Amino acid sequence: MHELSVAMSIADLALDEARKAEAKQIKELEVEIGEWAGVDSEGLLFSLDAVLKSNPVLRHTKVTLRKHSPLMHCGSCHSDFRPKAPYIRQCERCGAENVELLHGRELSLKSLTIDD
Ligand SMILES: [Zn+2]
Repeated sequence: MHELSVAMSIADLALDEARKAEAKQIKELEVEIGEWAGVDSEGLLFSLDAVLKSNPVLRHTKVTLRKHSPLMHCGSCHSDFRPKAPYIRQCERCGAENVELLHGRELSLKSLTIDD
């Protein structure tokens, strides 16, 4: 039930924002999710739907998932590449270990649209 707890924390964040803005409803939520975030996007959508429906501020909120494929950047040869597995720690082009994951592990509330 990992997706459910993620959905609940996203809803909490959205409610905080709504409170700050004194909004009565939130029109849209945009959630970023990486392929390697460890969360199933279908499951998350399903859980979000259930969580949002139970709250008057979020009842009519439309959810958009922005999915991110894994992308790595090499600090040595400055190339970007798609790593084949999460445990890859080497540049595919030059073999350097000076690599970082740019995308793939996102899991956050990117933006929300308030209806006031
Ligand atoms: Zn490289």
